[in-house]
Amino acid sequence: MGPKLAARLASRDIHTIEDLLYFLPKSYEDRRRFTPIRDLRLGETAVVKGEVILSGPVQFKRRRVFEALISDGTGILALKWFHFRETLLRDLFRPGKTVIVSGPVSRFGGRFEMVHPEVEDPEDPSLELHVGRILPLYPTIEGVSPKVIRKIVRRAVEEHAEKLTSFIPHEILRRRSLLPLSEAVKALHFPPENADLQALAGERSLYHKSLAFDEFFFLELALGLRRSQVKQASGIAFNIDSDLAKAFLAKLPFKLTRAQERALQEIKRDMSRPVPMNRLLQGDVGCGKTVVAFVAALIAIDNGYQVALMAPTEILAEQHYTGFRELCGLAGVEATLLTGGLPPSRKREIKQALALGHIQLVIGTHALFQGDVEFQRLGLVIIDEQHRFGVLQRAALREKAKGVSPDTLVMTATPIPRTLALTLYGDLDVSIIDELPAGRKPVKTELFSAHSRGVVYEKVRTEIYKGHRAYVVLPLIEESEKLDLLSATEMAEQLQKEVFPEYEVGLLHGRMSPVEKERVMRAFKRGDIQILVSTTVIEVGVDVPEATVMVIEHAERFGLSQLHQLRGRVGRSERQSYCFLVAHEVSPGSEAWRRLKVLTETNDGFRIAEEDLKIRGPGEFLGTRQHGYLEFRRADMIRDYDMLLAAREEAFRILEEDPALAKPEHQPLKLVLSERWAERLRLSEVA
Ligand code: ADP
Ligand code: MG
Repeated sequence: MGPKLAARLASRDIHTIEDLLYFLPKSYEDRRRFTPIRDLRLGETAVVKGEVILSGPVQFKRRRVFEALISDGTGILALKWFHFRETLLRDLFRPGKTVIVSGPVSRFGGRFEMVHPEVEDPEDPSLELHVGRILPLYPTIEGVSPKVIRKIVRRAVEEHAEKLTSFIPHEILRRRSLLPLSEAVKALHFPPENADLQALAGERSLYHKSLAFDEFFFLELALGLRRSQVKQASGIAFNIDSDLAKAFLAKLPFKLTRAQERALQEIKRDMSRPVPMNRLLQGDVGCGKTVVAFVAALIAIDNGYQVALMAPTEILAEQHYTGFRELCGLAGVEATLLTGGLPPSRKREIKQALALGHIQLVIGTHALFQGDVEFQRLGLVIIDEQHRFGVLQRAALREKAKGVSPDTLVMTATPIPRTLALTLYGDLDVSIIDELPAGRKPVKTELFSAHSRGVVYEKVRTEIYKGHRAYVVLPLIEESEKLDLLSATEMAEQLQKEVFPEYEVGLLHGRMSPVEKERVMRAFKRGDIQILVSTTVIEVGVDVPEATVMVIEHAERFGLSQLHQLRGRVGRSERQSYCFLVAHEVSPGSEAWRRLKVLTETNDGFRIAEEDLKIRGPGEFLGTRQHGYLEFRRADMIRDYDMLLAAREEAFRILEEDPALAKPEHQPLKLVLSERWAERLRLSEVA
């Protein structure tokens, strides 16, 4: 095609023939048969073939309208154009000529009509592409007509679809009653006459399913391969009978819950084996993951190894550091914080100490595993995931260990819906803490609109009067951080002056220096500040049991899981706690309102996460799109969950008999895998 057209396609990210083949219709129109004019129905889309009776521009209420009447012997249909090129239409609609028109049917003055119908010339050699079939409707491309798009795609499909092959063994496709990739893609563009139109419309046709299976299959194959690779690597067999850990547990002011015990046993079992641990520790906010992870750290330290805790952001690293220091004090070990914000000399000092093995526990971001940071004897990596790393980064840090792989423990504070667990964490073993420490009362959550803020403040006052403390959280809008900062500052001032003059209102935001933040947090902890206005920097790690109220302004701007996460900052003691969601831009009864309502109905993080995933899709849910790890061309983890499970089963079955994909008949699979996933998953061995 010419450069102009190519540029237009490029604007839609279509650069190759393969891209074009994957440029799939967004919906379909049934143009398999002509509808007799007599049988037309209002509002339905139809294709009509008829003879032109008369045509020409008419004056209609001060507007020139081009009108044509056609007849097919069963009735008369009017066609109307409000914008038109007269010569073109006159020619197309010469009286006596046969034409084919299609479009939605409307009614005017007792007669059926079509406004701006699509017109076909029965003499057109490419006619069969546009009528007499299930018509593919493609997403619009600026400056390219639907007909031209269909023609281009048609050529690509005819000449090249055959080459789309993914080498999934035929017996698998047969077992699952699915089609090979090339056939599925062909049929998606040009469905056969007998295709199930409803299934096509719902994107659940055999062709859609086959394509989804194909995408999932290679994802699961990649994950399975990584899993079997890790299982083959040599790891550290820790002595799990650790005095350090025992002494710490004895000093803890509480007993571990049964769920914590169970998770700890699973972790210890992994740690004792000479194979790297690769485990996900998952559980609702406040269920006590940190303590469990800390015991694992103590075991590693007691064995003479170093432990690294990696958080997704610097702020979170700092917060972990603060939280860990208390535990460290109890256990008699020391934690060191390594972040970009430290003075260069201090950083150098820390790096040196790490390389010499003088630091037992280091806390930081992914920078811990980049560049010139060296560990003397790294034994355990704890990752506070917040879903922000994904498989790619985990692979990177494993490369940091020389020879033996350290154990890896991934913590996630937001429960992962099963759908995501199978994809994002498909290579991990999972421990779940599904029990809160005894005596916790579920947080009571209520939803308010902005104008009933007064009620919310009175409820806050009641709590503070009892000696409790409150958080007021505002969303952080990245594009306009300044503006945002202002609003947090203003909010704090307003609350101080106008609402709570008798109490102390504090302010915490991301732009403050660590020292300042620390000072404010301490004052809040001590109770010198009773109301803390904050952007979402308090999301994780802050632990103030006396805080019993959480007010979240602009609740509609947050994801449900994030709100649930924030809510987890209260309810950390035996006192009854409250969460008040204040919605500004949504009205009661609306969709967004109902969505927020879910939080008032349940404290079950899994349910909330599922709901959230459904509403926002995986990209938004995960809070990141950048690594595109979960971006599929067509598959949808939720809609095509059955295919995801099937693909996982089949991929893992192959790996069971051939864990490294070494057999000759699996070489083509490896090739496809490396093409599609190596970059994303760093499957160096595959390439
Ligand atoms: P998570 O990391 O899962 O959100 P944390 O480990 O931060 O939860 O624990 C939340 C709070 O509960 C902390 O104050 C912690 O000291 C406390 N805690 C943890 N385990 C228990 C337990 N078994 N009994 C009582 N309190 C606990
Ligand atoms: Mg925690």
